[in-house]
Amino acid sequence: MVLSDDQRALQETARRFSREQLLPLYQKREESGVLDRELLLEMGRLGLMGVELPERVGGLGLDAATAGLIAEEVAYGDFNVSLVPVGTSLNAAILMRNAQPEIIDEWVPRMVRGEALVAICLTEPRGGSDAANLQLRARRDGGHYVINGEKTSITFADRADGYIVFARTGAPDSGAKGITAFFIPADRPGIQRTAFNDVGSRIAGRGSVFFDDVRVPLDHRLGDEGKGFTQVMQGFDYSRALIALQCVGAAQASLDEAWSYTKEREAFGRPIAQFQGVTFPLAEGESHIAAIRQLAFHTLALRDANLPHTAESAMLKWMGPKTAFDVIHQCLLTFGHYGWTKDLPHQQRMRDVMGLEIGDGTAGVMKLIIARERVGRAAVQYL
Ligand SMILES: Cc1cc2nc3c(=O)[nH]c(=O)nc-3n(C[C@H](O)[C@H](O)[C@H](O)COP(=O)(O)OP(=O)(O)OC[C@H]3O[C@@H](n4cnc5c(N)ncnc54)[C@H](O)[C@@H]3O)c2cc1C
Repeated sequence: MVLSDDQRALQETARRFSREQLLPLYQKREESGVLDRELLLEMGRLGLMGVELPERVGGLGLDAATAGLIAEEVAYGDFNVSLVPVGTSLNAAILMRNAQPEIIDEWVPRMVRGEALVAICLTEPRGGSDAANLQLRARRDGGHYVINGEKTSITFADRADGYIVFARTGAPDSGAKGITAFFIPADRPGIQRTAFNDVGSRIAGRGSVFFDDVRVPLDHRLGDEGKGFTQVMQGFDYSRALIALQCVGAAQASLDEAWSYTKEREAFGRPIAQFQGVTFPLAEGESHIAAIRQLAFHTLALRDANLPHTAESAMLKWMGPKTAFDVIHQCLLTFGHYGWTKDLPHQQRMRDVMGLEIGDGTAGVMKLIIARERVGRAAVQYL
């Protein structure tokens, strides 16, 4: 991709912030399990959040491809912190397209400034892949909806300031047609949340959100009643491309560190860079990561041109985390026994990217989406 001056400047800003402020404390931050809100404010001040949003809500009026450049750069320094700009892009896009103007004006500028964190609540205890089969209930009561049920496996569950929630407003067997989306501020009475003890990305506080008779004004509905799936879910095509670039950033960090090591470490009286058994796997990793990066920017360019990109996004969503995991694993092995300690970051990067082999839809579901795009709904009627 040939970068414009604006894109190059933002990429440089993101790169400096990521390498100077994020990378040195990547593992310490994760050990603490704390999402440092000051970092989010700093990303807001630097213009790294919601760059594709219009200036009237605090964005820079740029494009999705620029958001992708930032996702990769931030993830290079800290994959887990990069969940925030990516989540902001996804959730702000959903609000911009589906929320009432008052909600947009109150929330989106705060998200872009790094002051408000919004989570997206789709998965329920009975399962995430069969997402249209959800049970969390929204019942009309005068000027409100009353929400009851549990969402689980929600990124930022215990630390979000607001939730985009998918609920059933139709009959229990109404499938995708009976689902409506809502925006619910986290301080509404009746909300409780918990965090899980995850193997990675602990600063994201993945967990459950419980809704017990939570009253939501009618104007907090996103899109039309019963259209939560068809209108609001389209946003996921965007986040899937950005997720691939997060994975590319993390893998590139490990690759760069591994290449340096091949020049320093000696075996059999020479740098291990002289052994093709060492360099060829890294060269393969560079090749795979470069291919995913190119597909991701191609996909974001399709989005910027308002062209369909559902299949490309699904391809990226399964290949990105899996390839990054494999490449980082190879980098870990390049460091020999040092790679097996927690002093080096590769083990943590592997754990972190692995989460997104599941989050936002598993590889199996992504391949079903690709098949549906190619041979039509008849092939996957249950999706
Ligand atoms: C790190 C992380 C972050 C997450 N963040 C969020 C979030 O912010 N919000 C949110 O709502 N959810 C989130 N999730 C939940 C995630 O979207 C679900 O875990 C995912 O959709 C899979 O659902 P499940 O875990 O219930 O697995 P299940 O649906 O129970 O599936 C179990 C296994 O069966 C496979 N499978 C199921 N059906 C099919 C099929 N038809 N064909 C082939 N294979 C199939 C799946 O691929 C999986 O391997 C997150 C999960 C993780 C791990």
